[in-house]
Amino acid sequence: MKHIARKRFGQHFLTDDAIIHAIVDAIAPLPGQAVVEIGPGLAALTQPLVERLGHLTVIEIDRDLAAQLRQHPHLSVIESDVLNVHFSQLLAAMGSAWPQGQAADATASAPAVARKLRVVGNLPYNISTPILFHLLTHVDVVADQHFMLQKEVIDRMVAAPCTSDYSRLSVMLQWRYQMHNVLFVPPASFEPPPRVDSAVVRMVPWDEPPVLKVQTLATVVQVAFSQRRKILRNTLGKWLDEHQFEGDFDLQRRAEEVPVEEYVRLAQSLASATD
Ligand code: SAM
Repeated sequence: MKHIARKRFGQHFLTDDAIIHAIVDAIAPLPGQAVVEIGPGLAALTQPLVERLGHLTVIEIDRDLAAQLRQHPHLSVIESDVLNVHFSQLLAAMGSAWPQGQAADATASAPAVARKLRVVGNLPYNISTPILFHLLTHVDVVADQHFMLQKEVIDRMVAAPCTSDYSRLSVMLQWRYQMHNVLFVPPASFEPPPRVDSAVVRMVPWDEPPVLKVQTLATVVQVAFSQRRKILRNTLGKWLDEHQFEGDFDLQRRAEEVPVEEYVRLAQSLASATD
């Protein structure tokens, strides 16, 4: 029976074979890797992925689609909202190992550590940011992530300081992941076509991330970008005064002029003050 796309689940199904294969090539899956796909839908990516992997775990919220996917012999189907999936427990349950010495070129910079997840998906755009932040809380069990998202969101994720796309999202992800925009995808590649351009991002967690309290960084960045056109003295400066910060930080700049490393150092020096 033909599936009618459900708007509330952000359903736009990939139909362009060239794009589907380009995405799978970018992921470069190898047999035996512990891969989880978020939102498999009608299996456009799922099928070529499972052909290369041998087995795949998928997370799908739509009951009808999950029922169809369960017919596939090489899929483990988790029928759930991805925001309720505990990825660390999932990896333990999968009991699968990252094959030693088989890192693909595309993931050569990923740590060659056993038992880490590769997470992929053409994400529902209405909840893509909550999904990214949910996965950030499980980053320790993740080898890499490849996601199709609204291009505009990826532009913000990978943006450099002093550009108009550099924002809260850039800082909150760049401190923890190395990220690249790997592919542009036009609306015509989907059925029904979305109203926006899409792209695919590769996210590889840094090997030795800075030690900090994510909540402190999140607060600092939120205050700083609350009025991005203003000089920080009038926004972050006031907040730092309230928290008796006496360290060195140049407040004669705008939020978009401060590199990620400086936000990180500020969060680290504030950690005890906001305990
Ligand atoms: N992967 C398919 C493709 O590329 O054609 C479908 C992609 S479609 C943009 C997003 C998929 O995510 C849909 O199958 C939708 O039902 C599913 N989805 C939406 N919200 C979800 C959620 N909270 N948790 C898990 N899956 C979700």
